[in-house]
Amino acid sequence: MEGSIVLYPIMAMGHIVSMVELGKLILRHYHYHYRFSVTVIIAEGPILTPDVTAFLRHVSETTSSITFHHLPSLSIKPSPNQYRASIHTEFIHLNNSNLRNAFETISKISKVRAFIIDFFSTPALSVASDLGIPTYYFIVGGAVMLSFLLYLPIFHKQTTKSFKDVPTNHLHCPGFPPIPASYMPDPVQDREDQVYNDILEIGLNLRRSKGIMVNTFECLESTSIKAITDGLCVPDAPTPPVYCIGPLIATRKHEGEAVNQCMSWLDGQPSQSVVFLSFGSRGVFSTAQVREIAIGLEKSGQRFLWVVRKPVSEDNSKHSSVEIKDPDLDALLPQGFLDRNKERGLVVKSWAPQVEVLSHKSVGGFVTHCGWNSVLEAVIAGVPMVAWPLYAEQRLNKVFLVEEMKLAMPMDVSEDGLVSAAEVEKRVTELMESEEGSVLRERSRKMKEEAMTAWTECGGSSMTAFQKVAESWINNP
Ligand code: UDP
Repeated sequence: MEGSIVLYPIMAMGHIVSMVELGKLILRHYHYHYRFSVTVIIAEGPILTPDVTAFLRHVSETTSSITFHHLPSLSIKPSPNQYRASIHTEFIHLNNSNLRNAFETISKISKVRAFIIDFFSTPALSVASDLGIPTYYFIVGGAVMLSFLLYLPIFHKQTTKSFKDVPTNHLHCPGFPPIPASYMPDPVQDREDQVYNDILEIGLNLRRSKGIMVNTFECLESTSIKAITDGLCVPDAPTPPVYCIGPLIATRKHEGEAVNQCMSWLDGQPSQSVVFLSFGSRGVFSTAQVREIAIGLEKSGQRFLWVVRKPVSEDNSKHSSVEIKDPDLDALLPQGFLDRNKERGLVVKSWAPQVEVLSHKSVGGFVTHCGWNSVLEAVIAGVPMVAWPLYAEQRLNKVFLVEEMKLAMPMDVSEDGLVSAAEVEKRVTELMESEEGSVLRERSRKMKEEAMTAWTECGGSSMTAFQKVAESWINNP
């Protein structure tokens, strides 16, 4: 038997990394016996960032077993206020005829047994179904994200109002505690915005797929997973098979001066003494917020490793045009901050090797924006968190991290939208020193063990799910 598994990620760091890991996983398990090959379709879009370009170059240089199929370049001009979600889906849609040609080329070499898409690649589903190619989703978020997407069409039918017009109304999504409408991701707040319809389409198309893989594991999100597999999130149609095959996180080892600086500084710190602050590939704050964090960290007296980005001044809620630039730390941080804290704090500009940092023995806490990769990376490292959501589905992730999984404490935002220095000081100190922090640390340690158990050869939940989905590719006539 032979066949191709074709993956179609979008060009965003938090999406492409785990999709490539999925490709590697398929090759490790099914290349030798079944001669499966993996092709990743690359549609270089309008918001391709330098970190994604560097990542793709690294993977193609180091993982020759994965084939990259680049679609001919196309350009679109996003409007200034367009959400990233909408830019991605529009771009995927524009690429459909290129995708059709790509399938023709790939099929000449071997049969396409499965087409695995990101949820933002939904417009590609029509091409695959025309060609009779079975399509599966790979949800790069967790089961919380999946249940929200699956249930959105039901919310849509329940009312004619936008979430933004009823912010304090409590929503009842199966598997969720009641959640205020304001916690829904920004792109679905206004049903008059095109992006709302793009995401609604995703919710509707998920149920038409052959199966849905999710980057999570049973023990981490048991309540949400049960609600989905019991069919509660799609009460009006059958739910496709759901395969929880996580955690899949980046395995790339970073090199270079910035990496050495972080790792050698951590080497000199006591065990589990450092709190790490990092806010994903797109997290940026105002100057005022950066200063509040600095004051809070200094007052807390805790050791810290902090990734600082150049602040943004304009309203950045749609995140369609964020360009990460290095900050001028002396001008940005309170006067003398770097000097006063040089013994117990390291500030790095723009980026840190997060996976390596989190798994360093000196790191004992993580202040995170609750991006799903960051959550899984902390879980695998057994590090407890302070949850400070910024965009996308992160407010939902926060609720689950704090209330269900009990792996994080919340960072409270003041009415003026800022997190005060006092709150930063309080939470960081609690995480690192309080009884509550110790309880979170112990739960995080246990969850790390559960994550490893999920991948054991005999009966691990993620291993079993992965074998099941692969069987469906093997049995695809
Ligand atoms: N990341 C990193 N260093 C940084 C910031 C981010 O290595 O300074 C990586 C992080 O390890 C994770 C990814 O970028 O794998 C961010 O993905 P996540 O889903 O957490 O957030 P997103 O960027 O999608 O909001």
